[in-house]
Amino acid sequence: MLIVMHHHATVEEIEAVQAAVKALGFRSQPIPGKERTAIGVLGNQGYVEDGTIRELPGVLEVIHVSKPYKLVSRDFHPCSSQVRVAGVGFGDGLPPVIIAGPCSVESAHQISTAARLVKKAGARILRGGAFKPRTGPHSFQGLGVEGLRYLRAAGDEVGIPVVTEVMRISQLEAICRYAQMVQIGARNMQNFELLKEVGKLKMPVLLKRGLSATLEEFLAAAEYLLAEGNDQVVLCERGIRTFETATRNTLDLAIVPLVRELSHLPIIVDPSHATGRRALVPVMSKAALVAGAHGLMVEVHPAPETALCDGAQSLTEQGFARLMEQIRRMLPMLDES
Ligand code: PEP
Ligand code: MN
Repeated sequence: MLIVMHHHATVEEIEAVQAAVKALGFRSQPIPGKERTAIGVLGNQGYVEDGTIRELPGVLEVIHVSKPYKLVSRDFHPCSSQVRVAGVGFGDGLPPVIIAGPCSVESAHQISTAARLVKKAGARILRGGAFKPRTGPHSFQGLGVEGLRYLRAAGDEVGIPVVTEVMRISQLEAICRYAQMVQIGARNMQNFELLKEVGKLKMPVLLKRGLSATLEEFLAAAEYLLAEGNDQVVLCERGIRTFETATRNTLDLAIVPLVRELSHLPIIVDPSHATGRRALVPVMSKAALVAGAHGLMVEVHPAPETALCDGAQSLTEQGFARLMEQIRRMLPMLDES
């Protein structure tokens, strides 16, 4: 439930509404706006009888929200949000942000080469995993903190921010030291303790959709971050598990316009993990932008045939440069509203 206060509501009236919400056994969260304050009611499972609240002084209207997410919804926050990562902005009215780089940081040389080539082609954020969620324990698990150091050095060398994945709470301190954006991967989308900790940070977050997550579960995961105070959240569709095995996952592009309708948060698409096939990445990248994505996350490797992780879906230098050129030509035709 969302309680919208009159623009002239006093602090005392707002506090009285909060006390009434507490008396009903729920938590309240004031959402100050330019025009007026709204009060979100959190903790209810279903419909809340609003008679006592609707009558309180200063209350303009009461809106019932029956979804498990509120703070991420347009009901609570009608204006689209923009998220800034060291000066790079995601959101409506801004050009799509292309994040690119290898799946994993493999060496100082590899990530620095990757940084130079993706920057040269027009990428605005460098990606690279230092803590890798691998399906099997015998696969390369990432270079850890050493990888974070190489990643940041490579980003600094070419002057773009870096994003990297966190897998557990104890890694957050090091990630905050080196990265400008933290990624929560598909496998951790419902790691609620991790979400709560990342929610306490001031750092921008890239939240990827879980392998089998519904739209509602995806937005509810983002709600954890906002509920703790971090509203610098970019969502990422990266394909979901279906019966189809011809592609690594099934890219659910329809979710992009749907998320834009339901939520104020920016959403980008990762065509690399969604398809698992290099040949499909450029066309699905372009399709994602047409669908309204605020950006892309594309895996690019200086020598994909030697990659320690996800080489088959990584674009080469030439492939990425070609895609970026095609995107540049598409930009005037994209509706950025
Ligand atoms: C990644 O981006 O490196 C990654 C592991 O992706 P996902 O969590 O979407 O599988
Ligand atoms: Mn990968």
